[in-house]
Amino acid sequence: MLNKYIGAHVSAAGGVENAPVNAYKLGASAFALFTKNQRQWKAKPLTDKSIKLFKERCETYGFKPEQILPHDSYLINLGHPEEEGLQKSRDAFVEEMERCMQLGLDRLNFHPGSHLRKISEEECAERVAESINLALDRTEGVIAVIENTAGQGSNMGWSFEHLAMIIDGVHDKSRVGVCLDTCHTFAAGYDLRTKEACEKTFAEFEKRVGFRYLKGMHLNDSKGELNSRKDRHHSLGAGEIGWECFRTIMQDDRFNGVPMVLETIDETIWPDEIQALRRLALRNAPLSAQTIALA
Ligand SMILES: [Zn+2]
Ligand SMILES: [Zn+2]
Repeated sequence: MLNKYIGAHVSAAGGVENAPVNAYKLGASAFALFTKNQRQWKAKPLTDKSIKLFKERCETYGFKPEQILPHDSYLINLGHPEEEGLQKSRDAFVEEMERCMQLGLDRLNFHPGSHLRKISEEECAERVAESINLALDRTEGVIAVIENTAGQGSNMGWSFEHLAMIIDGVHDKSRVGVCLDTCHTFAAGYDLRTKEACEKTFAEFEKRVGFRYLKGMHLNDSKGELNSRKDRHHSLGAGEIGWECFRTIMQDDRFNGVPMVLETIDETIWPDEIQALRRLALRNAPLSAQTIALA
């Protein structure tokens, strides 16, 4: 039994119930989705029919909650320096958590927030933590999963210390987690280009945050260089990180049992990327052309 859940961020166009079908067609054992339009504040409530079909199809295609990583709207800033923006974000975040509850999902991936150069990083982290506390009080059963960022602009969450600061302020530690994006990690200055570099970076993650908080992964190569602070994804092996990182992750048991999803730029090769990752998960898989075998 393979313990690695591997997939991609699939389209939910036409309704959330289409996401598990799209994931199945890729040969995926994990997927990410937006449960509403990610560029708008408001969304129509999920219909009973959509909810029912989503659950049925997840059952049919074998997707359990721990294999699914919903992502919230890009507009939400839980560390917003201003009251109005903060309140709007907090309300929208609770709605997103509620949608997850309706769909029977157990985690929600979000970008921590930005201080917009108006408050300090510490103040921003406190706000994010308080936003999470408020959302957890108003919902049940859904884990708030903080994604590390590339550190572009005034975005928080690029360093492991930031993630730790936020987690530290959350009261219910059983309902807070982390999603590591390999592109963001690398762009934020943590090297992943060799097995040794990966081991060092993951040891640092274990020390500052802890693998017990790992609730998802985004597997992306990076167009930007190490420490570029640029959020620019690339296809696996085509960017500055390279395949060795993904082999190391695939052969490391600490990444078992969490959804690992591609957000790479060429959707047409997602089935190949998923298969290549699966081959790399086999014990002692070599980093050969046949193992990777992308057209
Ligand atoms: Zn990501
Ligand atoms: Zn990104």
